[in-house]
Amino acid sequence: MEKNDIKIEYDELTGVYNRNTFYRLAKEMIRKDPDAKYMLILSDVESFKMINVRYGEEKGDELLAFVGKYLSYSPGADIIFARYSGDQFVGFSKQVGDPEDEESFNQNLMFAMEQMYENAPVNHFEVKFGIYEDVDLSLPISRMCDRALMALRTIKHQYGKSVAWYDQRMHQQYMKEQHIQECMEGALKDNQFQVYYQPKHDAKTGKLVGAEALIRWTHPVYGFMSPADFIPLFEKNGFISSVDLFVLKRVCEDLKAWKTSGISVVPVSVNASRKDILQSQFLEKIKSVLEGENISSDLLHMEITETVFIEDVEYLKPIIQEARDFGIHIELDDFGSGFSALSLLTSLPLDVIKLDMSFVRSIEKQKMIIENIINICHGLNCKMVAEGVETEEQLAILREMNCDTIQGYYFSKPLPAEGFREYIENCNRL
Ligand code: C2E
Ligand code: CA
Ligand code: CA
Repeated sequence: MEKNDIKIEYDELTGVYNRNTFYRLAKEMIRKDPDAKYMLILSDVESFKMINVRYGEEKGDELLAFVGKYLSYSPGADIIFARYSGDQFVGFSKQVGDPEDEESFNQNLMFAMEQMYENAPVNHFEVKFGIYEDVDLSLPISRMCDRALMALRTIKHQYGKSVAWYDQRMHQQYMKEQHIQECMEGALKDNQFQVYYQPKHDAKTGKLVGAEALIRWTHPVYGFMSPADFIPLFEKNGFISSVDLFVLKRVCEDLKAWKTSGISVVPVSVNASRKDILQSQFLEKIKSVLEGENISSDLLHMEITETVFIEDVEYLKPIIQEARDFGIHIELDDFGSGFSALSLLTSLPLDVIKLDMSFVRSIEKQKMIIENIINICHGLNCKMVAEGVETEEQLAILREMNCDTIQGYYFSKPLPAEGFREYIENCNRL
C-alpha cells in the first residue's frame, strides 16, 4: 500500500492518531525499512478512574489531552504516536542507541516525566510505561502492543516502579497462563485436582480439632503445581468458583465416607474467594452440597482472607452473616498479612481468626503484638489459629500466649485424603 492510500484518523479528545491509524502507519514504517530494529512503548495513567472521581470528568479529559500532547512531543525523532485506549497511549519508533542500556533510557524517561508532572493540570498522578524493544517483526502490531501491555501490567499499582521492559520470561509466563486457561476445565473433569488436608491441633492438649482443605493440581505437562501458580489466575478469570465448589463437594464426600466407616471426624475448612461470595446463590449452592451428602453445617468452616474485605465490607457482611447463621464457622484468614484494619475484626461476624504465617516466622521479635492480637481475638469471643508452626519453640511460645489452635508442619504437612483418614484414626487411638 502506498502512503497516500493510508486513511489518517485522529483521536478527537487528544488530537493524536487513533489506534487504527497507528496500526497502519507502524506497518508502513516497517515495510519501508524491514532491516531496522524497532521499539514499542505503551503508557497508562495509573488509577485514572480515581482521577475522574476526584477531579471530575472534564478535568480528567483535560489531563488526557495534556498527557497525549506531552508524550507525542518528540522533536527530531521519527515516532508514531497514538491514543491506544481510554487512558493509554502508544508510541512506535526505530530503536536508537544501545538496546541493552535500559538504565539510562529509564532515567531519561523519568526526567521527562518529572517535567511533565510539574506542568500538568492535575497533581498527584503517575504515568507508567511498558516497553517492548527489538520487536519481532513477524507479529501483527496488535500483538506487539499486547507484549508491551503485559510488561506494563507487572508494575500496575506498584509503588516506585514506572517502567517495565518486556522479556522472554514474561512471554513464557503468558504462554503458561494461556495453556492453563485452555486446559483448566478439562483438568477438573479428568480428576487432575486433588484435595489435601492439613490437620489443626489444640495448642494445649495436642488433640486433633480440625483440618484445612487445600487444592493440589498434578498437571500432565507441568507436573505437581503449587496453588500459587494457578489460584491467582483462577481468581482473575473466575474459574476459582468451579474449583472451590469442587473442593467443597470432595470434602463433603470424604467426610461422609469417613463417617460411614465409623471414624469420628473433625470439622474441615474450605477457602472461599471473593468471586465465590459475590456469585448469586452462594449459600444455596453450599447448602445443597451439604444436604446432598448429609453433612451437618457445623462440620464446615469457611476461610476468607482479609484482603477480600478491602472493598465493600458492608456489602459482603450480610452474606457472611447468613452463612454463619446457617451454622458454618467463619475464619478470617491470613490476619496481619495485608491492611489489617482492627475495625474489620469488630465489624465482621467471625468465629476464628487465623494469624498469618509471617508472624510465626518472626515470633521472637513480635511477641508483644501477637499477644495483643490473641487478647483482642478472645475479647471478641473468637478462637485464634496460628498457621505455619514448624518448631517446638514456636509451639511453646504460642501455647504460653493462650493461642487456641495450631496448624503447620510441626504436626503435619497437608495430606492426601487417604493419608488424612489414617491420621485421624491414629489420633483417635492415642
Ligand atoms: P492459605 O489458605 O494461607 O494456606 C496455608 C498454606 O500454608 C498452604 O499452602 C499450606 O500448605 C502452607 N503451610 C502450612 N503449614 C506450613 C508450615 O508449617 N510451613 C510452611 N512453610 N508452609 C505451611 P498451599 O497449599 O501452597 O496453599 C497456598 C494458598 O493457596 C493458600 O494459602 C490459599 O490461599 C490458596 N488455596 C489453596 N487451596 C485453595 C482452594 O481450594 N481454594 C482457594 N480459593 N484457595 C486455595
Ligand atoms: Ca486458608
Ligand atoms: Ca492462611
